Amino acid sequence: MRVAFFSTKSYDKESFKHYLPDHTHELTFFEPNLDSKTIALAAGFDTICSFVNDLLDEKILTKLSELGVKNIVLRCAGYNQVDLKKASELGLKICRVPAYSPEAVAEHALALLMTLSRKTHKAYNRVRDNNFSIDGLTGFNIHGKTAGIIGTGAIGKAFCKIMLGIGCKVLAYDIYENEELKSLGVTYLPREELFAQSEIISLHCPLTPETFHLINPKSLSKMKDEVVLINTSRGALIDTKAVIKALKKRKVGNLGIDVYEQEEDLFFQNLSEEILLDEQIARLMTFPNVLITGHQAFLTNEALAQIAKITLQNLDELAAGGELTNEVKWKSKE
Ligand code: NAD
Repeated sequence: MRVAFFSTKSYDKESFKHYLPDHTHELTFFEPNLDSKTIALAAGFDTICSFVNDLLDEKILTKLSELGVKNIVLRCAGYNQVDLKKASELGLKICRVPAYSPEAVAEHALALLMTLSRKTHKAYNRVRDNNFSIDGLTGFNIHGKTAGIIGTGAIGKAFCKIMLGIGCKVLAYDIYENEELKSLGVTYLPREELFAQSEIISLHCPLTPETFHLINPKSLSKMKDEVVLINTSRGALIDTKAVIKALKKRKVGNLGIDVYEQEEDLFFQNLSEEILLDEQIARLMTFPNVLITGHQAFLTNEALAQIAKITLQNLDELAAGGELTNEVKWKSKE
């Protein structure tokens, strides 16, 4: 296969080149995101490989098809960025990496939570400045808290197990209940009940029309005061404006996010010399109890290795023309 990679970083090239010797595909790495300005780069390739912020909407898919692209391999699990209906109409095959290392993302959710609970980010900076005062660094125990997990698929399940291990009471909401988690002591509740009872809420469901702005003024009003919100899933699960209001009133006591609603224009780029025009993220960064990372939850050696291996396997299957293990198909209700 002749494959054009978009949104490529040095770590992508390294991991794919490491696993490439066993494979026959011709990989070309482009740094820019895939959009209407860069789409011409896809000319002459039968396949493109894209990442989370490469928008694959109706216009882009139509143009890709006109350029002769037949397949799209996503090097991520989520596929909310793809217009699956249009892809199906155009006969484009879409494959993804359904689970590369759920533990990588679950452990990052824990890292956000523990940094916020013990203010280690502040302590790190203080100590480097020879400031050994611990005033203002009072935290809270996670042990004994009630944690509500929304979405108990691969990542949510790993996170439930971590939270059980720490000694939390773990509540969960998912459209399908997981029997293994129930046997370990996780209690499934209706979503509103989970909102009402949880002191910590972590989001692990996909972004769909049903989950868009799941965290909104109404759901926030049902939550405990000073609730801790963690989002490593997709930015638009949270209505950012509503959360800013809730932070001002201390309804939300701590917010840890690895994803952000308008991250496409910001994340994965070094903008340190630019003027930040996004007022919402600028406001979020002024809160002492908000921690933001730039969509790095997946970024471990183990996860990168799996992404490369499974993507190359997807390419092998596409080249063979048979059954596709990791195909994403359009279903009429999606
Ligand atoms: P998964 O498909 O294994 O699990 C998703 C779970 O959400 C499933 O159990 C599903 O039943 C449930 N779900 C679907 N709709 C729901 C709804 N309306 N309400 C509650 N639950 C619902 O996916 P996963 O591998 O666990 O990944 C979860 C999400 O994490 C992905 O969709 C992706 O957006 C995100 N993700 C982020 C990163 C990162 O680097 N930050 C990396 C990988 C994945």
